[in-house]
Amino acid sequence: MDVETVIVYSTADKDSLAVMAADKAVCIGPAKAAESYLNQDAIIETAILTGCEAVHPGYGFLSENAAFARKCEENNLIFIGPSADIISSMGDKQSARQLMIECGVPVVPGSDGLVATAEEAAHIAEKIGYPVLIKASAGGGGKGMRKAFSREDIENAFETAKSEAKAAFGNDDMYIEKLIINPRHIEIQILADKYGNTIYLGERDCSIQRNNQKLLEEAPSARLCKDQRTVMGETAVRAAKAAGYYSAGTVEFVVNEQGDYYFIEMNTRIQVEHPVTEQVTGIDLIREQIRIAAGMKLNITQEDTCVNGHAIECRINAATPGVIKFLHFPDGYGVRVESHLFEGYEVSPFYDSMIAKIIVTGSSRLEAVRRLRRALEELIIEGVKTNREFMHLLTYHKDFIRGNYNTGFWEKNHTEIEKWLKEGITVK
Ligand code: ADP
Ligand code: ADP
Ligand code: MG
Repeated sequence: MDVETVIVYSTADKDSLAVMAADKAVCIGPAKAAESYLNQDAIIETAILTGCEAVHPGYGFLSENAAFARKCEENNLIFIGPSADIISSMGDKQSARQLMIECGVPVVPGSDGLVATAEEAAHIAEKIGYPVLIKASAGGGGKGMRKAFSREDIENAFETAKSEAKAAFGNDDMYIEKLIINPRHIEIQILADKYGNTIYLGERDCSIQRNNQKLLEEAPSARLCKDQRTVMGETAVRAAKAAGYYSAGTVEFVVNEQGDYYFIEMNTRIQVEHPVTEQVTGIDLIREQIRIAAGMKLNITQEDTCVNGHAIECRINAATPGVIKFLHFPDGYGVRVESHLFEGYEVSPFYDSMIAKIIVTGSSRLEAVRRLRRALEELIIEGVKTNREFMHLLTYHKDFIRGNYNTGFWEKNHTEIEKWLKEGITVK
């Protein structure tokens, strides 16, 4: 888009690819995120001093922080995302839930508001029936939630979820939902401009998760019929409109065995898995985010959008920190890689463990699955342990091949896949 960029970085990232690639780079503090990437004033000051017009928050750290968005607004910087008010109403899970109830979007049965004590939690759990999920209103990345299968589990689940939330988000507001057993996680990508034009760009199935964190995502979902896709898409648009939403955003649902869907949260930011939607719709979501932030109207209507082919993203995570000794990324037709790695780069212990995303596109799901296998075979990362082999073997699991999976997939199958790994079973 011919937009000049300034990147802020911590001392731990001084030799990172992003720092090398940006037009300008400014160090804002030490490795500890609280003193750098979460230091709102340092970021705002840098933006002002370097003459920035807008701030893109990415998908971690301050990307869903209403106070930061407000500070940008107050300093005449455009926050590339929704307004601070929208983030507070939709970014906070419990208030988003209330708003969804008001506008008739189905939510998981649960508490009417926040739950202050374990005793109150037990009372609500009796009413909605076990099992339940105790969740942090500020939660993210699968943190701050615990299951309770009976009364005995409540105290422990409540207290551990609460203290985890306090430590991770500095906010320990809690609420309760009924635990849907092994649902599918289906989310709808939204684009909305500041003039009330709101469209949905199909769904992503993110049911392959470990500890409530996504490992692999695909678009379209292997098991969603056309009617359900339309209904869920239109519901997501209704949810976004109710919040007065603008920018890119995602409405997340869990879908049970019978196909009933329930709103769980809205991510008021771009997501890690957005490339699969870009691949099947041909729409550059980051570009749209920037256009919308600049006050431009959407130039795509719902009727213009269509989903072509199939895309799958596999997240590659580092199990250990270390220096990258040798690196080879897959390429060729239908393969896209997003990564900050290079040979000699040191994977630090400070931040998220995701080091690469391998995204493949095919004309059919089977073609995409085969291409993913080929891409993961080609991928070489030496110097740190990764989940590459595990994910490669996962693509040969019969339930994955059939698209017959839900959020229970990892729990049900990881021991078997790890056994294949241990026994050195190779598929080629
Ligand atoms: P998604 O897949 O929905 O985009 P992830 O759970 O992968 O979201 O989170 C994206 C990134 O943001 C990850 O690096 C994660 O650790 C980080 N993250 C998510 N939520 C929060 C939060 N509330 N506070 C800080 N970091 C977060
Ligand atoms: P986060 O902000 O960490 O992404 P979510 O509310 O989106 O939290 O939940 C993360 C994952 O936890 C979901 O993708 C789903 O697998 C599981 N989950 C959340 N709520 C429920 C629920 N009520 N019943 C069953 N699973 C749930
Ligand atoms: Mg989520």
